[in-house]
Amino acid sequence: MEAINPFEMAQRQLDTAAEKLGLDEGTHMFLRNPQHEVKVNIPIKMDDGTTKVFTGFRIQHSTARGPAKGGLRWHPDETVNTVRALATWMTWKTSVVDIPLGGGKGGIICDPKTLSEGEKERLARAFIRAVARDIGTQSDVPAPDVNTTPQIMAWMMDEYEAINQGSVPGIITGKPLALGGSKGRTDATARGGLITVREAAKALDLELEGKSMIIQGFGNVGKWCAILAKEMLGVNVIAVSDEYGAIINEQGLDIDQLCKHYDRTGSVKDFPGTKAITNTELLETKCYILVPAAIEGVITEKNVHKLDCKILLELANGPTTPEADEILYKKGTFLIPDFLANAGGVTVSYFEQVQNTYNYYWELEEVHKRLDDKMTSAFSAVFEMAQAEKIDMRQAAYLVAVKRVAEAAKLRGWV
Ligand code: NAD
Repeated sequence: MEAINPFEMAQRQLDTAAEKLGLDEGTHMFLRNPQHEVKVNIPIKMDDGTTKVFTGFRIQHSTARGPAKGGLRWHPDETVNTVRALATWMTWKTSVVDIPLGGGKGGIICDPKTLSEGEKERLARAFIRAVARDIGTQSDVPAPDVNTTPQIMAWMMDEYEAINQGSVPGIITGKPLALGGSKGRTDATARGGLITVREAAKALDLELEGKSMIIQGFGNVGKWCAILAKEMLGVNVIAVSDEYGAIINEQGLDIDQLCKHYDRTGSVKDFPGTKAITNTELLETKCYILVPAAIEGVITEKNVHKLDCKILLELANGPTTPEADEILYKKGTFLIPDFLANAGGVTVSYFEQVQNTYNYYWELEEVHKRLDDKMTSAFSAVFEMAQAEKIDMRQAAYLVAVKRVAEAAKLRGWV
């Protein structure tokens, strides 16, 4: 049986929301497909003197609420349908946090591990030359994603400015601080997610102080979640993992020391004073808050019955399958769905655009305060929808997000 492609999955999710919202046929069909897609073939002179041709995409799913926003992925398995799905999900993500942006995504089919720094720079610049007419501060603003970095964003911004003969830092976000990046971007995704947990505890009247947290993944998102959990929620992180293995200490982990160990060894494995477990055991260990922050599809109908947590914070994209979703809801696990839970990153990217436009930069405290406001009201809108409709938080997030985009398209007279 052929696996369902991610874009079909994104379309099916919209279909369900459209039905529930009673969207008219025209609006539903309009939101089912991206508004604009470009595919480019980019010839690059390689270091060995040969020319290699790379295929790239930039897709704008919706600009109904504002310029499209979304990352650029460099991956050997990139496909147009993955980019379409991710562009669609960005539309819902920017909508659920109510920032005035739409959804976009891009990618280049390549394996960055095999490219030299010079080849990467030429590829970044050539991609921008190829899509320059399709992006812009008023139409579509890319950002980093899988395998793309602040340095790549810097080359891309520089190339765009050369084409436009002037300063346009807001053309791309995720830039280094020295070139107009925003303070507070590095930990924004984890911080935003923890804010939603704080709000969930308030809404459900739960006490978090001294409770336990388990995190799968110790990359940008998982590591920051571990660092901030105690300070923001008063919870103890008792187990973490990465692709090499998992560790646990029921009394709580010393996160400062763990970060040092990770920097030294490149893994959380073998951290002194902990017991080694597998990633499977990690997910099934009893805890108050479970945080998948690594990869997609880790909570399925096979293991969902063994999960023993009160709150599931989806910082990773797509960690839970639809079958598992239903079971979690019946079990009474409170799930904070990915495109709400991890929207802190795109929110601070939006702040970066705003600061670039003003050419005036905020202090860290101001970024934190504004992020807190956005995440708090996003949580509250979704929670209220879930209560009112008696549905789970994921469905509620879809209803809130799709409704806002449909309304914007209608007000413009598009549908
Ligand atoms: P990352 O590459 O920095 O870290 C990923 C971590 O997951 C690493 O520690 C890796 O070792 C671990 N991992 C990989 N495979 C694993 C496996 N099979 N089992 C356990 N651990 C495994 O990535 P990131 O930026 O931290 O992103 C993590 C997730 O969060 C992804 O789903 C990403 O799409 C999502 N996300 C990230 C951001 C962001 O701002 N970085 C924003 C929104 C969503």
